[in-house]
Amino acid sequence: MKAVVIHECGPSDVLTYEDIDPPKIGPGEILINLKTVGLNHFDLDVRGDISGYLQLKLPHILGVEGAGVVAEVGSGVSAFSVGDRVMPQLTTSSGQCRRQICNCALGMDNICEDFDKLGVTRWGTYAEYVKVSEPNVIRIPDGLSDLDAAATQVAMATAWELVVTKGKVKQGEDVVVNAAGSGVGSAAIQIAALAGARVIATAGSDDKLDRARQLGASEVINYTNQSIVDEVMKMTDGRGADVVIECVGGNILQQSLSALCLNGRLSTAGAHAGEKVEIDMIEFFRKQLTMTSTHFAPVSTNQMVLKLVKEGKLRPVIEKILPLKEMKAAHDLLASRRFFGKVVLEV
Ligand SMILES: [Zn+2]
Repeated sequence: MKAVVIHECGPSDVLTYEDIDPPKIGPGEILINLKTVGLNHFDLDVRGDISGYLQLKLPHILGVEGAGVVAEVGSGVSAFSVGDRVMPQLTTSSGQCRRQICNCALGMDNICEDFDKLGVTRWGTYAEYVKVSEPNVIRIPDGLSDLDAAATQVAMATAWELVVTKGKVKQGEDVVVNAAGSGVGSAAIQIAALAGARVIATAGSDDKLDRARQLGASEVINYTNQSIVDEVMKMTDGRGADVVIECVGGNILQQSLSALCLNGRLSTAGAHAGEKVEIDMIEFFRKQLTMTSTHFAPVSTNQMVLKLVKEGKLRPVIEKILPLKEMKAAHDLLASRRFFGKVVLEV
């Protein structure tokens, strides 16, 4: 099969387009023939080995997101047949947890003791074929394209967890969405607006803020030349925002906490611009703030957002479509931050 392989961690040059043997499936496993691959900033972290704790077995195939059809099923697989349109769940669970009472048994399969990740501990989606076990396969609704499906899972489902499940955004609340141009940011704007909130989007360029308005943001802040705290205070008559959806980290996270109202909530899922952040704990508890987080999303949330996209209530924003063999260019585009939404590759 064709695949983008890495033989060492490092800059985007380590991505090589090769012919290799497709994975062989065993009992309970499913081979998916991928048509599209969704790109995520997380892939760049794994490629560069900047996450430290990830010890990759090389050679390796990256990729946490993609859509395609079932090509082969192993013995014992009952819910899927050859030809079904599916996508792999990126947070892979064994389906049989070593703990009797674990979050995975309560439907939160992305918070499991046996938590595992596609494209990290096992070969991912930068290939014609990917192997996954049956509990980690998501059915794609009829009428939803492979391109939209591959652009939905990480951005939309993570944003749903941040805004609805963890952030508990309610109608009429003021919600700041940082990094409006990212996949998660562009999705969070739509989901917060759908929940009836007034959305204040922040980004580093006016172009991105124009796009954010088109997705449902009522107010915008350019954090390269405006203070998030000052602008949010002006927009809320000095009260502060009810919720901040945050995936940037560093100074943006510090500003976001200061921009919250009394009893405000901050919901985070990333820190690409600064992983270690100093927090003023006096301000934090005097304002009685809450900080919550998610790490991707469970299968059930993925199924729900795929349905909402199919119904046209949410719209994945696809910035660019490239062929699989141009993965290096795709990684370079993502690293440049000169994009809005998702980059998707066709296999
Ligand atoms: Zn578990």
